[in-house]
Amino acid sequence: MKPKAYLVGGGIGSLAAAAFMIRDGGMLGEDISIRGALPLMGGSLDGAGHAEGGYSLRGGRMLTTDNYECTWDLFKSIPSVNNPGKSVYEETVEFNEQHKSHALARLVDCRRAKVPVSSMGFSMRDRIELLKLSRTDEAALGSSCITDWLSSEFFDTEFWVMWATTFAFQPWHSAVEFKRYLHRFLLEFSRIETLAGVKRTIYNQYDSMVLPLQTWLQAQGVHLIADCRVTDLDSKTEDGKFIATGLHCLQHYDNEVIAVNDGDFVFLQNGSMTDASSLGSMTSAPAKLEKEDSGSWTLWEKLATGRPQFGNPATFNSSIAQSCWESFTVTLKNPAFFEQMQQFSGNEAGTGGLVTFKDSNWLMSIVLAHQPHFLNQPADAQVFWGYALFPDRVGNFVPKPMTDCNGAEILQELCGQLHFDLEVIKTANCIPCRMPYITSMFMPRSLGDRPLPVPANSKNFAFVSQFVEIPEDTVFTVEYSVRAAQMAVYELLGITRGVPAVTPHDKSLHAEFEALVKAFK
Ligand SMILES: Cc1cc2nc3c(=O)[nH]c(=O)nc-3n(C[C@H](O)[C@H](O)[C@H](O)COP(=O)(O)OP(=O)(O)OC[C@H]3O[C@@H](n4cnc5c(N)ncnc54)[C@H](O)[C@@H]3O)c2cc1C
Repeated sequence: MKPKAYLVGGGIGSLAAAAFMIRDGGMLGEDISIRGALPLMGGSLDGAGHAEGGYSLRGGRMLTTDNYECTWDLFKSIPSVNNPGKSVYEETVEFNEQHKSHALARLVDCRRAKVPVSSMGFSMRDRIELLKLSRTDEAALGSSCITDWLSSEFFDTEFWVMWATTFAFQPWHSAVEFKRYLHRFLLEFSRIETLAGVKRTIYNQYDSMVLPLQTWLQAQGVHLIADCRVTDLDSKTEDGKFIATGLHCLQHYDNEVIAVNDGDFVFLQNGSMTDASSLGSMTSAPAKLEKEDSGSWTLWEKLATGRPQFGNPATFNSSIAQSCWESFTVTLKNPAFFEQMQQFSGNEAGTGGLVTFKDSNWLMSIVLAHQPHFLNQPADAQVFWGYALFPDRVGNFVPKPMTDCNGAEILQELCGQLHFDLEVIKTANCIPCRMPYITSMFMPRSLGDRPLPVPANSKNFAFVSQFVEIPEDTVFTVEYSVRAAQMAVYELLGITRGVPAVTPHDKSLHAEFEALVKAFK
């Protein structure tokens, strides 16, 4: 009998795994099904709405072509939906050649002055501590935090503000992950103030990545089943091997048990950075949800109980105070805001990247993407995205924590930071989004807290997510999920084509030299 594959979770990790099974494993699409709890496929890689009711994206993603080896390996095979004859990779590279990132207003201070950032602001002690951390091996770093290695002054440097807001790090996050970022993104070190290494997709990542991939999978016959939660997994152990034998599914109040036969495969998306996320509106703050209100951790928690090889979800989902932040998407029907912002920053929309208000209590940043940012966006609408790393603090212009603010209050705070008249956002629609687990992947961890994509004793079961252990690679990236998918599929299906290696930019003498020069400026 031909093997079937069951993928649990509708994120880019599952979509990528299905594509690798077809392209490299020779499986038929009709033998693959993806069950996702959300109404749409794509998981955290979302983007939806319309000009009238307002657009919403939980995230605006930065990609690179210097890294993201598995992502581009995949998207070289996926046709664009808008540019016939081109792959998603080709259209993205072409777009970035025409729209190069070169931020001219990366940091803005409370006087609305652009902060000169050609120096990283390091003291000699900062440099020594940073070098020491970047050279300490992961075993010695253990489950320590970044603050265990770097003195408090380090967190006031321009480097930290730019690095932390580019990648969403907090001082209490994992020292191991911070070290991995320093190595993986060494090329960004010397261009962090202009974000010149950042590559963008033409539209938001739902329209530019998820949609083409989903269209291709559907054309191959893959079954995409939305609004379906897998609540339990049946299993047996044979010769010491864990074998998944059944899936318990809940769709629209209907329970179904699906038998997983000998030779079939099961892939689980364990955990999600956008679990329990909620949207607000111009008049209401987002609801404060927790994991009990959602469900992306539940199956992993069940499976990991008594099975140390399946990791430890509690390491990642036990402290909302350390993993929460909030984003917002603004839809405008009046070009005044974009015009003033472009004039102030010196960047045309799509060329500047993040503008961070470094003295703002919320540590707020905004990005003006190239317009239109949505496939269905009319020419007279503009959309931009922003976020804040400290939504629990009272604002500078709104006397409330961001998490208690509606969209109108967030716009008031933004205009205060920019010293723009409220008139420019009079007809704007701001949709806030609270994400209690958004940096859960960055929580300090020990080896073993994340399972391997294919755990040592597994015969037909794999994990595909941000919460698996992959040497050298960095979480909070599309790449990590696609790499996990490629590794899991190749191992379970016995595919001999190699998974693209993590590019060793940190081993290049030139790159290391450049980074050192920057650090010592
Ligand atoms: C605000 C934000 C900014 C970001 N910025 C960047 C960036 O600049 N660059 C970059 O590369 N990446 C960025 N990312 C990260 C990137 O989007 C994610 O790493 C990636 O999309 C994660 O994909 P995934 O498939 O692993 O998980 P997810 O997208 O989280 O998907 C997992 C899905 O599985 C579902 N699920 C879990 N359990 C079950 C179950 N039992 N039954 C059914 N369904 C289940 C969940 O509902 C979830 O939708 C950002 C993400 C966000 C949210």
